[in-house]
Amino acid sequence: MKINPSFDGFIGNAHPVSVLRRATSPGSKTLRAAYLLHGTAGTGKKTLAAVTAAALVCQGQERPCGECPSCKKAFGGFGHPDILRFKTPEGKTQFPVELIREIKRQAYIQPNESDKKVILIENAEMMNAASANALLKVLEEPPHYLVFILTCDNLSALPETIPSRCVCLELHEVSPRRAEQWLLRQYPEENPQLLENALLCGGGNLGKCVHYLEDEETRTLFESAMRLCRALVDGREFDLLSVLSGLEGNREKFAAFLSMADRLVCETAKAGFTAASREAVSLAARLSPGRAARVHLLNDEMRRGLKANVSLSLLLAVYSSGLKTIMET
Ligand SMILES: [Zn+2]
Repeated sequence: MKINPSFDGFIGNAHPVSVLRRATSPGSKTLRAAYLLHGTAGTGKKTLAAVTAAALVCQGQERPCGECPSCKKAFGGFGHPDILRFKTPEGKTQFPVELIREIKRQAYIQPNESDKKVILIENAEMMNAASANALLKVLEEPPHYLVFILTCDNLSALPETIPSRCVCLELHEVSPRRAEQWLLRQYPEENPQLLENALLCGGGNLGKCVHYLEDEETRTLFESAMRLCRALVDGREFDLLSVLSGLEGNREKFAAFLSMADRLVCETAKAGFTAASREAVSLAARLSPGRAARVHLLNDEMRRGLKANVSLSLLLAVYSSGLKTIMET
């Protein structure tokens, strides 16, 4: 999928979009030195950051125009020389201080082609106190040409000193109805059943819907969550165990599975009252709201166990016996 290089193409989130559009329009008096976009993963923070960065280097009137040489570079494969992206390197669990040093070095080098230079920092919550401290001074008093755009999934995980120096804008999920319209527009050729499942998987979280459509592993994992729900309502213990055995040895996979299974169970519980997908309606006919609530509580318990570092094999054993008890009652 191609990202739509404009503020108009960004659906929902009217407040952050209007703040950023105004700040980046020609002759703007509202542009600030640092913005922090925060909200659940999948709500479009990186997309909005990319649109804003392009608007800051754009030479057109309606920024980003998508047509000028700067926009073409910003949205093209090689990027724009005045838009720099930084994120935690693969395999690292924290944003390295050396990378902050590199950011500071780059900050004081004048822009190449544009009047502005943009530094994007993804998942800023990966910074520890030392990295955050190292960034503070330049964040507070950057050179006049520099704009920082930070994104973060979890604001409470970020050292407080960072948000207090930024304009903080929160992004939210959109309504499932708007998500559906957006998916139909973005994927006009896609199989309707697949789109329905994408919506069941992601709801108003467009990032999750897109993940379902474009990432094979996500699709497979969601299919397992559906198999688990079907096994539960049909009382098929063997199916239940076979789904759970596929989750052994991978905590992240189990965590992702739990959030999918939980969404599916919650959607199923709602399906009796709202227009939902056929799959949710067919499951809802057989999974009582009481059982759905018990699965939800069990999922919560598993998530807490994962956070508290309980061993995965123990958690899976407890999960499987908990599900069996729910299945039999
Ligand atoms: Zn442009």
